[in-house]
Amino acid sequence: MSARILVVDDILPNVKLLEAKLISEYYDVITATNGEDALRRVAEDGPDIVLLDVMMPGMDGFEVCKRIKQNPDTSHIPVVMVTALTDVQDRVKGLESGADDFLSKPINDTALMARVRSLVRLKMTIDEWRVRSNAANTLGVMDDSGAVMNEPVTGAQLLLVEDQDFEVDKIKSALAGDENIIIQARSGMQALEFARQREFDLIAISLNLGGEDGLRLCSHIRSNERTRQIPIIMIASPDDMPRVAHGLEIGAHDYIMRPIDKNEMLARARTQIRRKRFQERLRSNYENSLNMALTDQLTGLYNRRYFEVHMEKLLEDNKTSAKNLCVLYMDIDKFKSVNDTWGHNVGDEVLKVFANRLKDNLRSFDMLARLGGEEFVAVLPDVSQEKALYVAERLRRIVADEVFPCSVPDGHLPITTSMGGVLVEGGDHPIPTLLERADGELYKAKEGGRNRVFFENIGELNPDDFEIIEREDMGGELNQQA
Ligand code: GH3
Ligand code: MG
Ligand code: MG
Repeated sequence: MSARILVVDDILPNVKLLEAKLISEYYDVITATNGEDALRRVAEDGPDIVLLDVMMPGMDGFEVCKRIKQNPDTSHIPVVMVTALTDVQDRVKGLESGADDFLSKPINDTALMARVRSLVRLKMTIDEWRVRSNAANTLGVMDDSGAVMNEPVTGAQLLLVEDQDFEVDKIKSALAGDENIIIQARSGMQALEFARQREFDLIAISLNLGGEDGLRLCSHIRSNERTRQIPIIMIASPDDMPRVAHGLEIGAHDYIMRPIDKNEMLARARTQIRRKRFQERLRSNYENSLNMALTDQLTGLYNRRYFEVHMEKLLEDNKTSAKNLCVLYMDIDKFKSVNDTWGHNVGDEVLKVFANRLKDNLRSFDMLARLGGEEFVAVLPDVSQEKALYVAERLRRIVADEVFPCSVPDGHLPITTSMGGVLVEGGDHPIPTLLERADGELYKAKEGGRNRVFFENIGELNPDDFEIIEREDMGGELNQQA
C-alpha cells in the first residue's frame, strides 16, 4: 500500500536520510524544512502521514502538530514526532499535542517502517469514512464531523490483558482521572471471553504474558467481526521490538515500552480512545444521514427517493419470477377536512397512526413508502392474486374498523382510506406508468364513494368475499385463507 509522506526537519541531511529510506520502500515523499512550510504542504498536498521533527527554530514540532490536529480539514492525518530527546516529558507533550507516535533518533528502521505501514492502513480507513461522510454532507443531511482532538476521552471501557499485578495497578492509577472502567484479564482466553460480553473502547495487551503469545490474542481480536474496530495498545519490553513491529503489522495500533510511564500511558490511551470515537462518529453520522435521506421524517416510512430506487430492483427481480408483484396506492379519505377542522398537528398524528397500522400489517419484505402528503404506496413482491386482494382488503379494514387515537376532544377520529391496486406479471413496467395505473384505480375508489379498493382488471373488491383472520396469524395462515 503506497502513500504520500511528508518529512519535516530543519536539518537537511536528516530530511534526505529519511526521504531515501522511505523512497526505497516505494513511498511518495514530500519535504519541508520549517513549521510554516510544513503546514502549507499539509494543506496543499494532503499527505497520508507526517514525520515531524520536534526541535526546529521558529515554530517547533509541538506547535505544528497542534495546528494540524486542531484543523478539522487535517486533523485525521497521522503525525509521528521524530526526536533525539528521549525524555518522557517530551513524549507526553507530543502525544498531548495530538501526535500519534514518537520515534527516537537515530531511527530504528524496523520501528519506522512498521509504524508507517500501520498508520497508512489507519489513514485509509478514516479516508474511506470521510469520503462517505462528505457524500452524505452534499445531500445536506449531515453535521460537520469536526476534529479528532475534540472527542471526549473520559468514561471509556478498557480491557487490560496483563498478568503482572504491579503493572495493572500502575496503569489503573495512570488512567484513574478519566473515569474509565478498567477490566483486567490474565490470559488471552479470559480476554476473549470478556470481549464477547462487553463493548470495549481500548484493549491493552502485554506481550510478556506467562506461557502465551500476546500477538496471538491481537490477531484473534483483529479477525473477529465484533472486536475488529477496537484499538489495541501492546505493552512490551525494549528487547521485544521485532514482535512489536510484527504486532503493528497485524493491526495493533500502538505500543508502550516498559517501564511504563504513567503519563505516557495516559496520553497513548487517550489518543486511541479519541480516534476510535471519531471513527464511530463518522460512521454513525453517515448511517444517520443515509437514513434521513431515504426515510420520511414524520412517519419513519421510506420516502419517494427510496421507493423509486428499490422499486427498480423489485421490478427487475419480478421479470423472471413466476409470481406477481402488487402495487397498492393509498390515499386517506377527506384528509383535508381533518386538517381544516382540527389543525395540522392532529393531521400529522393521523398520518403517523396510519403509517404504523399499515406497517404492522405487512410482511417484513413488503415495501411501504410515503410518496407525499397523505399518499402511500405498498409494494408486495412475490404474491399470488388471491393474496394481493386479501392484503388490500385487510389494510382497508385495519384503517376503517378502528378509530385513530389523536388529540381531539373525543380522543379519536374515524379515518378511512381508498386504495387502487395493480398486479404486475413479468416484463417491463416503467415506474411512472405503474403509478399512473394504480392512481387510476384509486380515482375509481374515490369516485365510487371512498373507503374501498379497486383493482385493475378486477374492479371493486367486495368486502363480503373476504374473511379476515387476526393479525397475529397473518404470516403462514394467509395462504390458506386467501
Ligand atoms: P380525498 O378523499 O379526495 O383524498 O380528499 P382529501 O381531503 O384527502 O384530499 P386532498 O388531496 O385535497 O387533501 C390532502 C391534504 O393533505 C391537503 C394537505 O394540506 C394535507 N397534507 C399534505 N401533507 C401533509 C402533512 O404532512 N401533514 C398534514 N397534517 N397534512 C398534510
Ligand atoms: Mg386524500
Ligand atoms: Mg391526496
